[in-house]
Amino acid sequence: MVSGKVAIAERSANEASPIILDDWRRSLAEAVRDPDQLLARLGLANHGLGLSTQSRQFPLLVPESFLKRMRSEHVKDPLLRQVLPLAEEDDSVPGFTTDALDESQFRKAPGLLHKYEGRALLVLTGACAVHCRYCFRRHYPYSQEPKRLDDWEPAFEALERDESIREVLLSGGDPLMLTDERLAAVVRRLERIPHLRRLRIHTRLPIVLPNRVTLELLDLLTSTRLTPVVVVHANHSQELVADCALALRQLTQTGVMTLNHSVLLRGVNDSVEALAALSERLIDLGIKPYYLHQLDRVSGAAHFEVAEEIGRQLIEELRRRLPGYAMPQYVRETPGDPFKTPL
Ligand code: SF4
Repeated sequence: MVSGKVAIAERSANEASPIILDDWRRSLAEAVRDPDQLLARLGLANHGLGLSTQSRQFPLLVPESFLKRMRSEHVKDPLLRQVLPLAEEDDSVPGFTTDALDESQFRKAPGLLHKYEGRALLVLTGACAVHCRYCFRRHYPYSQEPKRLDDWEPAFEALERDESIREVLLSGGDPLMLTDERLAAVVRRLERIPHLRRLRIHTRLPIVLPNRVTLELLDLLTSTRLTPVVVVHANHSQELVADCALALRQLTQTGVMTLNHSVLLRGVNDSVEALAALSERLIDLGIKPYYLHQLDRVSGAAHFEVAEEIGRQLIEELRRRLPGYAMPQYVRETPGDPFKTPL
């Protein structure tokens, strides 16, 4: 095993040697954080796009790998749209709030959310490798959540007391922003809770920062006594190429159940062609399309909303094009409901 190196050791069609990428933390440190720099890199410096002036709390953040998958001089690029803070974010739109899913009412201990029967969620970190402009947790009060491993003990003890919980979701932010060592420490602590059976990791890092799929991470996923499930988050087939595709193959080849959830986003994937291409690409990579979420109505994201009626029509059309196993379930989350509502 090559410590600190990524697991991407597949040979791509036209390369003679395995691809070994740099340490993911270095890639993160080198991510683009300036909208003007991003636009200049894409040949859009003088395009006159109106940018947000109020995004200081949730600034632009784009790793180089994700940037490389954007098309130059393409103002409507679906990947660019997901990350560029446009002026529309600053509009106050009725019905869009900072806590769109009313998550504060489900906080059972610091860092622990319990929304659904049998499952509980740990908000392990507020950090991400990309800032998705439609993120429903973009205003989440992460500063109130535990930081050091010891601070998580009340959450672990709450899980220990509730024997109805069989599955723990690691979320955030992005839980893979933790180092492999810290992540392993969390997993080992969870393994000591006898009634837990499954460990689900919700992450966008394999998509936006593929060299985060390290050998140590794959070892952890395949060695835990808990049944691992990884839910990645891609919204467009253009995301699922190059180093991202290699990393995802490496993940799925371990045999770990890997699902994708996406959000229906205006200007990104609100066409049957885009949704069909996304599902087909996921299946090609061995990933099951899981959910297509109706946008959560979070402040700053109104310009991404697609009407539910349009979403239903898209799903109907998608059904004609795809085999059943490639169909995501179109759902809306309503705070307090015992499950996500199929639409
Ligand atoms: S990666 Fe996930 S948690 Fe992070 S900004 Fe994007 S949607 Fe939000």
